[in-house]
Amino acid sequence: MNRFMRMQTIAVHGGNRKDDIFGAINEPIYMTSNYRIHTDGTPVDWSGTESYIYSRNRNVNQMVLQDKLCALTGAEDCAIFASGVAALAAVFVSFLNTGDHVIVSKVCYSATKLLLDKYLPEKYNIEVTFLDSTDTEAVCAAIRPNTRLIHIETPGNPTTEISDIRAIASLAHSAGALLSVDATFAGPISIFPLQLGADLEIHSMTKYINGHGDSLGGCVLGKKELISQVKEIAMVNFGGVLSPFNAWLIARGLATLPMRMAQHSRTALAVAEFLEKSPAVRFVWYPGLKSHPQNNLAKELMKGQYSGMIAFDIRGDERVHLQFLNELKLVTHAVSLGDIESLIVYYDKESDKLPYYPQIFREGFFRFSIGLEEAEDLIDDLQQAFASCKLV
Ligand SMILES: *Cc1c(COP(=O)(O)O)cnc(C)c1O
Repeated sequence: MNRFMRMQTIAVHGGNRKDDIFGAINEPIYMTSNYRIHTDGTPVDWSGTESYIYSRNRNVNQMVLQDKLCALTGAEDCAIFASGVAALAAVFVSFLNTGDHVIVSKVCYSATKLLLDKYLPEKYNIEVTFLDSTDTEAVCAAIRPNTRLIHIETPGNPTTEISDIRAIASLAHSAGALLSVDATFAGPISIFPLQLGADLEIHSMTKYINGHGDSLGGCVLGKKELISQVKEIAMVNFGGVLSPFNAWLIARGLATLPMRMAQHSRTALAVAEFLEKSPAVRFVWYPGLKSHPQNNLAKELMKGQYSGMIAFDIRGDERVHLQFLNELKLVTHAVSLGDIESLIVYYDKESDKLPYYPQIFREGFFRFSIGLEEAEDLIDDLQQAFASCKLV
């Protein structure tokens, strides 16, 4: 596969195999837990990931998906897991040892927060510093002799903040540490953390990569040397592998990611611009808006596609916020994101996450995942909900 083909072509053809038995055009689903082992006397690597022995070591549908992801991102290798959290945990358990120090963005996924704030420090004596990773100088100041890993989210979930991957990568490397970037909010094609110097790129494939809200999954991308460790430790021996059926579903979703992401990005920009002008709205953050605190950095890093994630809040009290959710007709109040349909989540004042977010978020806000509906229909839906709440 020529790496320099255009994205949508790579998404369709990357990783595909030819079915030599029946000539099927679509990839068959290899629902098998094990494979025939050769009997020619050559050694068998029972715990290895290079040959087909057992589906926790390697399976065909997993390989198709990992090769498609490598073709799209330029990564040397990729490890696939049963969820995004399994992929995050895989990175932490593969590269952290007792006594190591980790720097992590305060704005991060809830399981990342719990793993690094509670479980890994308590169980394995890992030292952790949570900080605002959009402040590169703060990251620099937090580095210790035992800093082994810097882990950031860009764009951050849920605030959409952008951290300077290039600058933090060079800080990490001069300290002898690794940089891992959870880029779930952007998908693997509107930001390229590995090309910007990150060592490990992590995605919840549940979100944009699959895109259809029908499977969980996670992946870790990077150099072969690092990914081999992730596969050996976390995949084969911790065992959170993705099923062949879910790998097949996600590869099918991934084939349309570039088209979907272009549409998500266009629509989200139109909706964000509408929100910014509406008197009903208290604030809106979207990396593609000039008013976003890291808009310049987003322009440099995100190649003109700012993904489909918006954070915003409306005026009015808690009751008005709940009424607004009830009045929406097209948009559903639900977790997850990157789906074909628009989803919104309300972080109310009681949410214990608010203190970790910038001041403007601390009165509560919405995380809005723009689906593939037409922008005009989403804007109409928001407008009628604002009107019903007497906000406009
Ligand atoms: C959803 C999400 C995860 C966790 O992924 P799962 O597939 O739900 O396990 C991790 N990071 C980010 C940024 C996410 O949005």
